[in-house]
Amino acid sequence: MGKELIAIAFFKDRKLNYYLDSLKKAIVFPCLACGKQADMDIATTRWSCDFCQQKGNLATLITIQVMDAAVNTAIFNPKKEWYAIKRRFNKLSQRHGQEMLVLLKKVEELVKYYEGSK
Ligand SMILES: [Zn+2]
Repeated sequence: MGKELIAIAFFKDRKLNYYLDSLKKAIVFPCLACGKQADMDIATTRWSCDFCQQKGNLATLITIQVMDAAVNTAIFNPKKEWYAIKRRFNKLSQRHGQEMLVLLKKVEELVKYYEGSK
């Protein structure tokens, strides 16, 4: 748990977007070198970027100069996205009635199906 907290403190300090993916046991963040999505193992802090092939651990990450591409880069956070979609469905149901909630139920079932097939 200790390394994970240090890594999160680092991302907060550099004002980088990140989220904790509890299934992958990883912190997802914008690669400091190219701004594309990179993953860091929370137990070891080993990270890699599939796009620019940079890799290392938290100690090496700290030495990399943060490129403009990485600052203010929104990374796709599926959990956050899912909450926003559900909120929108609920709001739309006030205008369009129960049909929206029926549709939400169907989408939820579909998401559960795909979560199970990972
Ligand atoms: Zn990269």
